[in-house]
Amino acid sequence: MTWQKILEKLKEKISEQSFETWFSPTKEISFLNDTLCVEVPNPFFIDWIEEHYINIINAVALSVLKRKIHIFFKPNRVETVKPEPKLKEIITFSSPRSNLRERYTFENFVVGKCNQFAQAAAVAVAKAPAKTYNPLFIYGGVGLGKTHLMHAVGNFAVSIYRDSKVFYIPAEKFMNEMVFAIKNRETLEFKNKYRNLDMLLIDDIHFLGDKESLQEEIFHTFNALYGAQKQIIVTSDRAPREIPSLEERLISRFQWGLVVDIQPPDLETRIAILKKKSELDEIDVPEDVIFYIANNIRTNIRELEGSLVRLLALSSLTNTEINLTTAKEMLGSIIGYKKNKINFQYILKTVADFFDVSEKSLTGKRRTASVVLPRQVGMYILRELTSLSLKEIGLKFDRRDHTTVLHAYDKISRMIKEDKEFSNKIDKIIRKLTT
Ligand code: ADP
Ligand code: MG
Repeated sequence: MTWQKILEKLKEKISEQSFETWFSPTKEISFLNDTLCVEVPNPFFIDWIEEHYINIINAVALSVLKRKIHIFFKPNRVETVKPEPKLKEIITFSSPRSNLRERYTFENFVVGKCNQFAQAAAVAVAKAPAKTYNPLFIYGGVGLGKTHLMHAVGNFAVSIYRDSKVFYIPAEKFMNEMVFAIKNRETLEFKNKYRNLDMLLIDDIHFLGDKESLQEEIFHTFNALYGAQKQIIVTSDRAPREIPSLEERLISRFQWGLVVDIQPPDLETRIAILKKKSELDEIDVPEDVIFYIANNIRTNIRELEGSLVRLLALSSLTNTEINLTTAKEMLGSIIGYKKNKINFQYILKTVADFFDVSEKSLTGKRRTASVVLPRQVGMYILRELTSLSLKEIGLKFDRRDHTTVLHAYDKISRMIKEDKEFSNKIDKIIRKLTT
């Protein structure tokens, strides 16, 4: 088979893990008129393969067949049959025992570059539990949406397969239950509860590190569920291999399925999230306020939401309208707190490195285009990240007149709003400075 030959060569060129994940589940459908048709499990594979492997596949195909061929991928149908719900099932389904939070759905989850892979994998799992990626392992920093995404899969699954037994539990709570069960001689009940589920969502599994008995129990639960073709989803603040003292056998099992990460959101995604939240809460937040918050709170979505909530609470308590001025006053203390921690030299160096100019030229007098923009960016960032006044910022750049700083600030703000690529650059610099 042609595809088989190509795969054998491809196997030598990419990691075993990637090969297993993306290519083992594929098979040739036909090869006619130099067009090779290959079946993949679902549409998500197509996007992923075409984005990441198509060049290498074409190169391998050329070397194997000595001529150019056209390869296209076809998804195996994704199962989305909706069984007719029966009354009894609806009752089980709506019982709160699944621990799922209603608000954490795919609809409420904003997709951006930072989380699109994780989201797509979660959707694939939700549509065909235990058929695509099992387990699904999602990792990433605090407040980036891991728990939300995990609930979204559960919520989606119970909305389609109404009688499915989905259960969410944080790893820490799992341990408490286990300890309780041992103490009260209820271990059999405990085991049965977890081993008879259709989908188990274990949150924050990094908590497992150096807890041997817990690892042991999770291991057996995993095996029982996996063996019975039930879906397992796990989240963690780091990749499996980086969890300290995690047993090798668990690491390897977590890697059987798909391991995906979530990155901090870029400016655009942060804005979209704030808009979504205000839409969900049915409140009107002016665009410039959204922009102000998104621009100042960068690494954590929970904090992003928190500032919006705080703003709303304060404005209703004090009966003030929300606008940029009041927002700055109300959020100043949160944002200002962060501002005092970053110093001028560090900012200067980071900006200079980024634009590949010398630090000296940034504070110098020359007006060539290659230094003017970086200099203005420096001023902008100083104003954003420190509590220095315009005048003080001017003096740092050896300028007496503070209007130069104001002008720079306005210009860069405008460019950020208008030019997406530029805005991403600034974002990168600021993220570097703040994390
Ligand atoms: P984590 O589990 O990674 O610490 P959470 O899932 O608890 O983070 O997310 C923190 C908060 O941010 C939640 O209220 C969640 O709804 C929200 N959130 C995170 N990511 C997104 C997103 N992409 N779109 C909308 N809300 C999000
Ligand atoms: Mg969480």
